[in-house]
Amino acid sequence: MSNVIPSHRQRTKGMQRIDLAYAELASSEVVRDINRDVVLELIRTRQPISRADLSRSTGLQPSTISSIAEQLIGERWVIEGPAALRPRGRRPTLLSINPGMVIVVADVRPNQAIVGVVDLNGRFLSRESLPLVADPERGVRNLIACIERLIPQHPDKSFEGLGIILPGRVDPTTEQLILAPNLPWAGYDIKKAIQAAIPLQVEMDNDANACMLAELWFGRMEGVRNAVLVTITEGVGAAILANGQLLTGRSGLAGEFGHLCLDPNGPVCGCGRKGCWEVFASTRAAIGYFQELRKQAGRPEQPAPTSFELINLAEDGDADAIEALNRQAHYMGQGLRIIVTALSPELVLLNGGLTSAWDRFGPIVEAELAQNILTGTPPRIVVTSDVELARLRGAAALVLQRHAGYSRSNASDGKPVRRKRSPKKNA
Ligand SMILES: [Zn+2]
Repeated sequence: MSNVIPSHRQRTKGMQRIDLAYAELASSEVVRDINRDVVLELIRTRQPISRADLSRSTGLQPSTISSIAEQLIGERWVIEGPAALRPRGRRPTLLSINPGMVIVVADVRPNQAIVGVVDLNGRFLSRESLPLVADPERGVRNLIACIERLIPQHPDKSFEGLGIILPGRVDPTTEQLILAPNLPWAGYDIKKAIQAAIPLQVEMDNDANACMLAELWFGRMEGVRNAVLVTITEGVGAAILANGQLLTGRSGLAGEFGHLCLDPNGPVCGCGRKGCWEVFASTRAAIGYFQELRKQAGRPEQPAPTSFELINLAEDGDADAIEALNRQAHYMGQGLRIIVTALSPELVLLNGGLTSAWDRFGPIVEAELAQNILTGTPPRIVVTSDVELARLRGAAALVLQRHAGYSRSNASDGKPVRRKRSPKKNA
């Protein structure tokens, strides 16, 4: 009997429904891939680990574990370390993630791009930032030049791929940036241009989706199946994890909560419509509030601060900065209320904007959300303080999910698949 891949199986209490329109029968190859991903995940989270412990943890036969380990070593994901110290008997050699394998990552934002090198454990090895050019051809050329400078700095590493996160939506079929209200690069074939110059497989996706994948890969999602991740930068983006799967929607456009209308008479948004959530809750909005408050109070004109500087001003007690960020926090809460009402997530992850000063501004967001909850308690909110690292790990996760562990979140529920014995004929 074949197994049905569990991603297409919907569990309700005591009942299991299989959607035949999407069900595929698992070939032995798929079973092997799922088991490989589960073993890789165990090595990553419990390294260094012996083959015997892997067999005990998964319930897979020692011979199966051995052949998966050989495959992972052959693919250079895993290395064999020193022997474990045991009082007597054979000393098992331990398996670890290969620290020599790395990923080039790029975080493209409306005003700047950050390019870096991250290893498979999510550690930063180097980074460089560059101002972003609006013209896509020149902008991508600068990005390529930066990547070409970074790679030779790590002659002892082997590069697995290049992950790029973008402030917009990438169609999963065409792999083209099709919507980016704050970056005029939509329609330009970014992937083709980069792949023509850099000999690495390129993966690109929306920044929020990538950060959600990074949470699955490196993060705090243990057991959580329904979550929303909101990125707050020059715009506001979101990713949705529903029943353990990233929701992409038609053409990869799901999650554009930043462009839900809060006020039809509000300011014009980068998307061309009026009063979107992001014109009230983005870092750009907070800087706007600050400038407006200073003007109203008749204070001397000065150049607009960056979002980082604005938070520092607030931490130093600047009344205008505090008021500007209070407003942003209030609008953050308003938008989150819509998301929570629509999706009822267990967990809300926030990344960017106010999250580096959450002690001060978090209570405003949480109060706004709690006030308007339909029933029960509001979902848990978890914030990311190291926003830059979280975003670059997101770019790395795009490469990791393509080459290792795709089934971890999507097909296997993190459990190994054991082949069932074939039923006897005529039984
Ligand atoms: Zn908009």
